[in-house]
Amino acid sequence: MLYLVPTPIGNLKDITFRAVEVLQSVELILAEDTRVTKKLLTHYNIHTALQSFHIHNEHALVERIAKKLLEGVDIALVSDAGTPGISDPGYLLVKACHHQHLKITALPGPTAFVPALVASGLPSDRFHFEGFLPKKKGRQTRLKFLKDYPYTIILYESPFRIIKTLEQLAEVMPHREICIARELSKLHEEIITTTFTELLDGHIQKITLKGEFVLIVGPN
Ligand code: SAM
Repeated sequence: MLYLVPTPIGNLKDITFRAVEVLQSVELILAEDTRVTKKLLTHYNIHTALQSFHIHNEHALVERIAKKLLEGVDIALVSDAGTPGISDPGYLLVKACHHQHLKITALPGPTAFVPALVASGLPSDRFHFEGFLPKKKGRQTRLKFLKDYPYTIILYESPFRIIKTLEQLAEVMPHREICIARELSKLHEEIITTTFTELLDGHIQKITLKGEFVLIVGPN
């Protein structure tokens, strides 16, 4: 069995009893960054073996891991934070498991965009998850798509590109509302919903540029 196990996005208490149980009982945990996962495992007194599995080695490892699963080894996949496969490695391995008719189970649990969406005060009945915009090539094409998309839009962004992304979104859809959800579940959690117009009228300088961000753009 391959278990996809969501881990906390900040607050270490945001993990399910079942996730802890699975991480304790499997033979191997595949982790994006073993140092990050080690901290979580230490906190919960889990001693399962760790192996690194990230975007730079997943192609090379997928077949080997599928073979282990075929042999009957139970494996859990985690990422540094949140749900594996959501803007994180996971898809390739899950696809390979489907091809081999291997059993997969995905545990429900933390992911950054859901708390951001439901706390934003913006409609959550229909939405598009964009994740990270491309850094260079393809960025303008995505911005054009988003401009024409009529419902709520969810983006992930790092502190290094947050201002640039907010400015570009404001340029293509100045009349839409925007929620900036920062450091969710952490000490400096902040959820601000405003309009792009207000944001450009001086609010943008007030945004703390530290930490992790989810951006929610309101419907057209
Ligand atoms: N797998 C994760 C999930 O399920 O949400 C996402 C991983 S992605 C590499 C990391 C991005 O998620 C960050 O750049 C940020 O946009 C968002 N993120 C993760 N933790 C967050 C937090 N505590 N507060 C706000 N955004 C967060």
